[in-house]
Amino acid sequence: MAKIPVGILGATGMVGQNYIALLNNHPWFKVCYVAASPRSAGKKYAEAVAGRWQLIDTYAPHVGELVVQDANDVSQAVAAFKRKRCAFVFSALEMGKAETAALEEAYAAAGIPVISNASAHRWTPDVPVLIPEVNPHHVDIIPIQQKARGWKKGFIAVKPNCSIQSYMIPLQALVQEGFLIKRLVVTTMQAVSGAGYPGVPSLDMIDNIVPYIGGEEEKSEKEPLKIFGTIVNGTLKNASMPKISACCNRVPVIDGHTACIYLEFGSKKPSVDEIKKIWAAFKGLPQELKFPMAPEQPIIYREEDNRPQPRKDRDLDKGMAVVIGRLRPCNVFDVRFTALSHNTVRGAAGGGILNAELLKSKGYI
Ligand code: NAP
Repeated sequence: MAKIPVGILGATGMVGQNYIALLNNHPWFKVCYVAASPRSAGKKYAEAVAGRWQLIDTYAPHVGELVVQDANDVSQAVAAFKRKRCAFVFSALEMGKAETAALEEAYAAAGIPVISNASAHRWTPDVPVLIPEVNPHHVDIIPIQQKARGWKKGFIAVKPNCSIQSYMIPLQALVQEGFLIKRLVVTTMQAVSGAGYPGVPSLDMIDNIVPYIGGEEEKSEKEPLKIFGTIVNGTLKNASMPKISACCNRVPVIDGHTACIYLEFGSKKPSVDEIKKIWAAFKGLPQELKFPMAPEQPIIYREEDNRPQPRKDRDLDKGMAVVIGRLRPCNVFDVRFTALSHNTVRGAAGGGILNAELLKSKGYI
């Protein structure tokens, strides 16, 4: 199969670099267009990231030779997309919310589907917030979105915040077995790469914890409800449960967001052993259809008392598995556990690629 040419907006940033590295040998997609801010535009990609490439894996030689374009120039992108037969863009832009929202809409209106990492459209009612193991059926909103806006080929689909990735799949596994989750309390310990590059000043981070990440607690409390929601009358209606309370902290870890989670179930309550069995057996659509970016085992449970740990567990199964440990009864709610996911892979570029694989399998790209 010939590979599908794709573009990356924000290709020089933390998430953009992860896209470039993860797409290096991807069997379906090939990077043919890179764009970033006017600061990088006009430089070859290799020159634009010189001195700020953050990953151990490097970029493919053909990507190093691509000239970075100004992501704000949509008409130029349209012309290049026609020439190179590009199919869609991954958006990894870090700009103001309104600017990002308008720019992503301009790409979609120009016929270029946008698979985004930004938060700008997560609350747009006809834009799906996708985790392919949890709500793949939400892609059904795309034709409704296109019709309402008069877009023929373009659309916007987004992935949720990186802070919630580690527990959404484990929660879905329990919900689909009929266990209602009424309340959830979560405390996150989030890696510095989550703030992009150069991110949080080193003097704020070394030997320290910062108990505030702007907007993160609101996102953690609201986004799961849209993901667990249903399509009603052409719009995504939020689920009413679980009620969520979140505390989000920045910690001196490079990659990998950890979360301590406390759950209260409805009247039907699973035992600790039952939960472990459900997690071990869980497979979603990406596993059934064997998407290239899908982890074989989406939920990995570690029995050791002192796991998961970011340094030791974040890269399991290509950085796409969520790793859980310390499941035990809770003195206040029903159970508690610790969960980990790689924020720039599962929580960003890898999650975006998995969304693209889902959208391709459903015929949208
Ligand atoms: P980043 O490292 O700061 O990279 C930002 C990218 O946006 C760079 O390519 C930058 O280009 C480009 N950019 C900045 N201003 C621009 C402008 N005015 N016009 C066009 N392009 C512009 O940020 P990041 O961490 O990669 O995050 C990218 C997006 O993903 C954000 O929306 C973020 O919220 C989201 N996200 C991040 C993570 C994570 O773990 N880091 C996880 C989930 C979601 P230059 O290099 O030319 O400045």
